[in-house]
Amino acid sequence: MTGATRKRDLRTGRPVWADSYGLGVPVRTLDAAISVDVVIVGAGISGAFMAHDLSRDHSVAVLDRRPPLTGSTMASTALLQWEIDLPLTVLAEKIGAEKAKRAYLRSRAAVEDLKRIVAHERIVCGLKDKDSLYLAGDTYGYRALEAEAGARAAIGLDSEFIGPADLRERFGIDRTGAIISSGSASADPARLAAGLLRRARANGATVYSQVEVLQAASDPEGVTLITDAGHAVRARQVVFCCGYEFPKGVPTPGAKVISTWALATKSRTACPAWLRDTLVWEASDPYLYFRMGGDGRLIVGGEDEDSPDAHQDEARLKRKCAAIAAKLQALVPALDFEVDYSWAGAFGESATGLPSIAPVPDMDHAWAVMGFGGNGITYSVIASQVVAAAIRGQVDPDADLYRV
Ligand SMILES: Cc1cc2nc3c(=O)[nH]c(=O)nc-3n(C[C@H](O)[C@H](O)[C@H](O)COP(=O)(O)OP(=O)(O)OC[C@H]3O[C@@H](n4cnc5c(N)ncnc54)[C@H](O)[C@@H]3O)c2cc1C
Repeated sequence: MTGATRKRDLRTGRPVWADSYGLGVPVRTLDAAISVDVVIVGAGISGAFMAHDLSRDHSVAVLDRRPPLTGSTMASTALLQWEIDLPLTVLAEKIGAEKAKRAYLRSRAAVEDLKRIVAHERIVCGLKDKDSLYLAGDTYGYRALEAEAGARAAIGLDSEFIGPADLRERFGIDRTGAIISSGSASADPARLAAGLLRRARANGATVYSQVEVLQAASDPEGVTLITDAGHAVRARQVVFCCGYEFPKGVPTPGAKVISTWALATKSRTACPAWLRDTLVWEASDPYLYFRMGGDGRLIVGGEDEDSPDAHQDEARLKRKCAAIAAKLQALVPALDFEVDYSWAGAFGESATGLPSIAPVPDMDHAWAVMGFGGNGITYSVIASQVVAAAIRGQVDPDADLYRV
């Protein structure tokens, strides 16, 4: 068999994680007005990390207009990377060397924190340590990647440039060079978020679904949310974790929502041993990326398009997934795979690749978290740390990086 898709087997339009086990999160309907310390709007991975952290010492309610985990979290391919979409050298030109260094080191620490939380809470989500292989492409060639590896090594990150001969010998890939780095991971994002929400519930948090927040107003003591359930929610603080469905009234300078596509091959896809321990992505636009899942599926994505709605187009889904499969086959000719699932989603981008984690302008006691870029889940961890520190009256030393 080849990488070509067999139409009758396609689980078209369905993310592979939708069929994971262990996604149950007990929810309640909002049938009366409630009052809590912190209300979190959004039961995706960002709301889950936030609820997990804050429920340790606050009363917490999580509200979602859909069932939990059915936003972009379910669509995520969940490469858990500290490498930001913009290389360190390029980010340094945009925001200065010192801030760029802090942004990279903070992402590196966040991936470690994520691993620590999963281990401590014993969340079963297929978390696996991975190296990452960043291939030279049409955006950044081998010279740029060589300089990038040097810049990363100079700030203590474990990145090494390898040339074409090494790349061919170790990975069977024909490119002019690549950076290999340690310290990344992958997981099932839906099971991860479900596990965090269940731990938050064990701490006393309540998840309310399906309830839409229509309006929010603040006063000196706190906030009041108006919901479509007809009952108000009163809280001392609100945190909007609404993914790419930006809350009305929250400015998002430099942010744009694009469309992206992904597929999963059949389980137990035969693949080279190195791929079990390595995430692969390329310095191209659009870029191809892939990794193995725990059940031997290849999870592959890319073909981003500059449109917020294109991901809803069924005809495009077939075309895009065929293009992703063909690119993968061309890059790793030895692979023998068959597409099983294919899906698409909205995806946020910012000019720097950094997220926005900031107080809502002109509103007291309110925060908005927007985890832009390919590192959305790493940023969900950082967001929970930055916002939880502020709510506890502390200042996160890197909070300034994310006030874009
Ligand atoms: C195809 C794809 C691949 C990706 N791959 C990766 C990857 O490899 N690595 C990575 O780190 N990131 C990746 N991402 C990005 C990552 O998935 C996102 O950053 C992350 O899922 C965002 O989580 P969230 O909780 O912020 O948002 P969501 O999961 O979208 O959750 C937001 C929730 O808010 C709710 N909501 C919104 N407005 C309201 C309202 N007014 N009232 C009530 N509820 C509301 C929504 O119903 C939704 O459930 C990918 C994204 C896509 C689409």
